[in-house]
Amino acid sequence: MALKEIVIMMGPAGCGKTSLTASLGKWISKTQFLRVGYVNLDPGVKKLPYKPHVDVRDYVTVDQVMEKYGLGPNGALIKSVDIAVKYKDEILAKMSSLPFPYLIVDTPGQMELFLFREAGPVFIDGLREFGYPIGTVIYDPLSASRAQDIASLKLLSLVVQLRLGIDTVPVINKSDLLGGRGEVIRMIRDHNYLISKISQEEGVYSEVAERLLMVLDEFKLATRIPRVSAKTGEGLEELYDMLHEIYCSCGDMT
Ligand code: GDP
Repeated sequence: MALKEIVIMMGPAGCGKTSLTASLGKWISKTQFLRVGYVNLDPGVKKLPYKPHVDVRDYVTVDQVMEKYGLGPNGALIKSVDIAVKYKDEILAKMSSLPFPYLIVDTPGQMELFLFREAGPVFIDGLREFGYPIGTVIYDPLSASRAQDIASLKLLSLVVQLRLGIDTVPVINKSDLLGGRGEVIRMIRDHNYLISKISQEEGVYSEVAERLLMVLDEFKLATRIPRVSAKTGEGLEELYDMLHEIYCSCGDMT
């Protein structure tokens, strides 16, 4: 049987993980005629714009943990993600039994809880049993205006790749807010232009960034960045194509 195609939405709080989960899923169902399964791994979220088929909140919520352990929101969020890991076998079994070829996984608002604690590596390892997980690292363009911002997105994508051992696609979301920012778009699109901009900056950090970007280029890592809008649907086709290309070249065992 073919491995499920599994997209993991990651990125800093507020970048649009939840919105993009909903809009990419809707777009895939409508245009690719695929049934999409939605998975929520955020125990702190209150309202979702999609109906999750698997929901971590069936096992633990931040509100329950705050009450039970007398913790504030931050401590409760950390503890609830750690508690979710204890239910990993049940959550993964539910995901594996979904009768859908395509799954989209929405991760906790605070990226570091998934990425740098146990949850990320543990869930990703489990997903490999029945699917081919591919990460997205989503960025909000309002926090990306300078060359070093774009460079750090590309490098963050590499960090995720190293930490979780999966292919990742860096994504700029909220492209509907990019009007009049041609320079930013060019830096996003044109890796060599970005390197030339970085190299014009003074100081040791720009030299470090320049060399790291060259390494990315050499290994063909994270050099293309689709820009999408979860709000208008712009760019979803390009994002889907990039994810699907990775799946077809690495994950499709049929
Ligand atoms: P998350 O914390 O990463 O899951 O981010 P959310 O999906 O909750 O989105 C955070 C905020 O950004 C919400 O107010 C969304 O409505 C808004 N947002 C998400 N995607 C877009 C987009 O493509 N365009 C615009 N203009 N706003 C967006």
